[in-house]
Amino acid sequence: MDSTERLKQVSEQVRTCNKCKLHLSRRLAVPGEGPANCKIMLIGEGPGFHENEQGRPFVGASGKFLDELLKMAGLERSEVFITNVVKCRPPQNREPSEEELLTCRPFLEEQIEIINPEVIVTLGRYSMAHFIENGKISYIHGHPRQINNRLIIPMYHPAAALHQPSLKEVLLSDFSKIPGFLSKKTSSLNEIESQDESHLKDEIEQDEKKDNETRQLSLFG
Ligand code: URA
Repeated sequence: MDSTERLKQVSEQVRTCNKCKLHLSRRLAVPGEGPANCKIMLIGEGPGFHENEQGRPFVGASGKFLDELLKMAGLERSEVFITNVVKCRPPQNREPSEEELLTCRPFLEEQIEIINPEVIVTLGRYSMAHFIENGKISYIHGHPRQINNRLIIPMYHPAAALHQPSLKEVLLSDFSKIPGFLSKKTSSLNEIESQDESHLKDEIEQDEKKDNETRQLSLFG
């Protein structure tokens, strides 16, 4: 079976899945979409209202912003695979539970195995946590890590920018870095990582300095 057929098979399993209670309240499961041979995969949190109605990922307000972000990276939706850590909408858009995340995990793992993307962009903390334990998004957003011979780039969730407009520029700037990461050959991934680690170290040091200054000001203020 080729990879397109295998992906279709996973989608079918997702659509008929009843392994956790989210299947009771969903209208449509949202397996994800995109070509099997793409280089980039984007992983969000879970379907919202519109996704649940249409069975497609990121078709609501945050999807509109995601299209803008992809454009910033010179990408079309049709070139990337977009999915979520949980494939059915949590009622009232509540956060997915640990049990729901665990139950849904094999679907995402199979999709990653089939597509074997060069780059995975995680959108939001649940998606980041799938790859990076105890990551702090405010420190590591936009900084790739090499995990299993591919780059994982943690990013803020597009919906975060809809609630906190200052994050819009941050996301646009982080997405604009994607083409630079993609153009590198796998052999130079270690180099990207170590260059990036040194920038990251500077950034963390500056953030810690700022935190200390704020703490001292509040002690004396
Ligand atoms: N938010 C997500 O995390 N995923 C979607 O598919 C839509 C909104």
